[in-house]
Amino acid sequence: MREITPTRKTTPRTPATCCARCGIKLSNPGTVVLGIGEVGPECIKHVNAALTDLAAGPLALLVARGEVRLKLQLSADGLSWIPSHDALSQYIVWADRAGIKLQHRIEVSTRTYILTIKPRSLQGYSVKSVQA
Ligand SMILES: [Zn+2]
Repeated sequence: MREITPTRKTTPRTPATCCARCGIKLSNPGTVVLGIGEVGPECIKHVNAALTDLAAGPLALLVARGEVRLKLQLSADGLSWIPSHDALSQYIVWADRAGIKLQHRIEVSTRTYILTIKPRSLQGYSVKSVQA
């Protein structure tokens, strides 16, 4: 039996100096948004509007908690640990419909697959229900 080697660091990153949404360097501390990271003063309006919109749909749990945690299961060949295909594909389909992308990291100690919103993908998100 083999453990999956994490492809990303599972420890929190050092404090952001760049806006999580647009990547522009922040001259002043931004607003930290759960599951997104530190966001600049202009982008926070868009991020809040996007998350408010997304919270009304099937990704509500992801927005509310900042992440979704899926238990890893032993693959059929018994060689690796993988997330449930049904659970994972559901979130990927919902995110795709909403026009955002998800990213993941693996917490080896608890065999958990953790999904979060890819902050940069909120740039292309068009908020339909919020007036400019
Ligand atoms: Zn920004």
